[in-house]
Amino acid sequence: MLTRSALIYLSRKEGLKDFAARFSLFKKLTTRFIAGESIDEAVAAIREVNAHGCSASFDHLNESVGSTAETEAEVREYLDVLRRIDETGINSNVSIKLTQFGLEIDPELAYRNARRVVEDAARRGNFVRVDMEGSNVTQATIDAFKRLRAEFGLNDVGIVLQSYLYRTMDDARDLLKIPARIRLCKGAYNEPPEVAYPNKKDVDDNYIRVMKLLLSSGIYHGIATHDPRMIDATLEFAKRERVSKGAFEFQMLYGIRRDLQEQLARDGYGMRVYVPYGKHWYPYFMRRLAERPANIWFVLKNLWK
Ligand SMILES: Cc1cc2nc3c(=O)[nH]c(=O)nc-3n(C[C@H](O)[C@H](O)[C@H](O)COP(=O)(O)OP(=O)(O)OC[C@H]3O[C@@H](n4cnc5c(N)ncnc54)[C@H](O)[C@@H]3O)c2cc1C
Repeated sequence: MLTRSALIYLSRKEGLKDFAARFSLFKKLTTRFIAGESIDEAVAAIREVNAHGCSASFDHLNESVGSTAETEAEVREYLDVLRRIDETGINSNVSIKLTQFGLEIDPELAYRNARRVVEDAARRGNFVRVDMEGSNVTQATIDAFKRLRAEFGLNDVGIVLQSYLYRTMDDARDLLKIPARIRLCKGAYNEPPEVAYPNKKDVDDNYIRVMKLLLSSGIYHGIATHDPRMIDATLEFAKRERVSKGAFEFQMLYGIRRDLQEQLARDGYGMRVYVPYGKHWYPYFMRRLAERPANIWFVLKNLWK
């Protein structure tokens, strides 16, 4: 737990990236989790993901953007991505973070920026997933999402909920009334016990409770996890309640449990792989290390080989 907190703390020290990136080997190791720095590299990675029977979601890595000009560049990047998806015919939607679009500068700016991307996706028959970030922006993210959802359709824009937050069951019930498409994950940030379950068992139990609510809703949701226990619980519940294979999808991160991704796709389940790319890979990479300290040894071993 200490290692996890330390790594999440380091993930916010973007300056360390420049130090780490000097080691070309370190950079090479990041390719396990990151598809590259350009759209072209991400398209190539998605083609491969598609060839294994999985769909994808583009994620342009950049969080907590600090200027309006930078948010404009993010919008343009996503409009480019949506155009490239159409041109190449790859099977992919997009995931956005509202801090990337200026949520911490001005919520109205983030909403307007996100709206431009959702409008373009809707026009193209594609879909935008609004990722969930730290608990300091949970309410602002839900508020902006609700505005987007009021203007666009169920199949144009969706949101993410994190089972480590106490509030998540209430949020799920509230969002299902709209209704909304939800991606359920455990949550990747350092949260205090005032807002999030400190124990993994409680996070997992809540994940299963919310998963059951989502699967019973008749709406197409994303079950995002690499945890075989969460996956088995989902498969069992779906079988018992006769929820068809096409009524929901599993989602996993690029480079994590590829074996399981391909197995579920072979078994006829929807499997979407979240494909991150871009120059600002450092915080994302560190959060992946935090989730599984075994990966630190993998990185260190290879650095000194
Ligand atoms: C598609 C997708 C989208 C996501 N979007 C968000 C989001 O918007 N907001 C947010 O806060 N979080 C997001 N996450 C991250 C998520 O919250 C978790 O931090 C992450 O998925 C790890 O939790 P887990 O469910 O895999 O289970 P864990 O309890 O972390 O792990 C269970 C098991 O999964 C395997 N595993 C997990 N991580 C790794 C790894 N790095 N390398 C190798 N094996 C691993 C191991 O076998 C491990 O024992 C997303 C995750 C996915 C899959």
